[in-house]
Amino acid sequence: MSHVFPRHCRVDPPIALRGEGCYLYDASGKAYLDGSGGAAVSCLGHGDADVIAAVQAQVAQLAFAHTGFLTSQPAEDLADLLIAHAPGDLDRVYFVSGGSEATEAAIKLARQYFVEKGQPERRHLIARRQSYHGNTIGALSAGGNALRKRPFAPLLVEVSHIAPCYEYTLRAEGESAADYGLRAAQELEDEILRLGPQTVMAFMAEPVVGATLGAVPAVQGYFKRIREICDQYGVLLILDEVMCGMGRTGHLFACEADGIAPDILCIAKGLGAGYQPIGAMLCSGEVYACIEAGSGFFQHGHTYVGHPVAAAAGLAVVRKLLDHGLVARSAAQGEALAAALREAFGQHPHVGDIRGRGLFQGIELVAERESKAPFDPALGLAGRIKAAAFEAGLICYPMPGTRDGRQGDHILLAPPFIIEDAQIGELVSKLRDAIEAVLP
Ligand code: PMP
Repeated sequence: MSHVFPRHCRVDPPIALRGEGCYLYDASGKAYLDGSGGAAVSCLGHGDADVIAAVQAQVAQLAFAHTGFLTSQPAEDLADLLIAHAPGDLDRVYFVSGGSEATEAAIKLARQYFVEKGQPERRHLIARRQSYHGNTIGALSAGGNALRKRPFAPLLVEVSHIAPCYEYTLRAEGESAADYGLRAAQELEDEILRLGPQTVMAFMAEPVVGATLGAVPAVQGYFKRIREICDQYGVLLILDEVMCGMGRTGHLFACEADGIAPDILCIAKGLGAGYQPIGAMLCSGEVYACIEAGSGFFQHGHTYVGHPVAAAAGLAVVRKLLDHGLVARSAAQGEALAAALREAFGQHPHVGDIRGRGLFQGIELVAERESKAPFDPALGLAGRIKAAAFEAGLICYPMPGTRDGRQGDHILLAPPFIIEDAQIGELVSKLRDAIEAVLP
């Protein structure tokens, strides 16, 4: 019996023994095509020799130095590299160990910024429904995933939620995508005005919604309008690119496709590509300058902030992404994956939508295409598709729809950027078989 938890299934899972390229192998030798990179983590695939060498060299030279006393060369170099490629005037980096730590730090930084600025009444965060920002209390409060929040309510942070920009279900009949984007963004202004602009500190959103919606980008123009509204009311814009950042969407930073830059940006997952746990929060010069001029110190910190080995892994990953054209490859193979999904499911009576950017693609299942009605959640389709695919040697990321019937089951795909065309074929064919085996 396994004593490790959490368990996502009632039976003990197989032991993962090794990884190579796009495949994981269990102790019995069975191969699994990693169609979701875990949860959009393994952007370089498994067993990347360059990243392994960088980690080995760093752990041998310096495994740990506390940032209360010292910085380290890999952390400095990684920060420089991220800043050199980051959008807007993001120019400071705070390293953490994962996505929730990055979003949690972002919320605290936004709050401290306004306290130091002499506007302590700005304490309210606005985020979006059907979003996920992490599992620590602040990040969980910010997210709009009812299932994950329910056992812990009431949560601690004052957050209100507006609708996501979710064209498939929320764009009205006859409404243009551009008009829909403006209407969806208008919800932010309405909410700021409802709360009182002087009480709002930040708006937080994923540029491409990952786990909760299944790779849903906003329509063009939405985030431009969001940026304008934030500027108009002095509200900070926090973008959560924990899942969609680091080349996943075919851009190093997902918000590049929307033509905007945030005040605070969170990344993780693909930054360490699974070789080390690492995340980061980037903030603008203006936000940093305010804190530097005030107390001079961001009142935050974890023991493993700026961990040298994690930073060395991140540095090797980002160098590899940039030097080997892997961001462009994510865009190109993303097109190939999207085309294969359209070929397999474009006419499927129970696939309502195929969407995404780069190697971040999602499909949404519906009981009926015309009405877009979801399947009865009691059927547990997502979990059963996950199990059927796993049995056939495919790891993908199906998620159940919301119980309020606003959204159906969906499947998220986020394979490594090194995926070959033949492996895309294998992924789609195994996924199709799993879906067919399970659909009522
Ligand atoms: N934000 C987003 C958008 C995520 O997808 C996730 C993880 N799925 C997180 C935050 C939390 O990251 P972590 O699990 O590394 O704490």
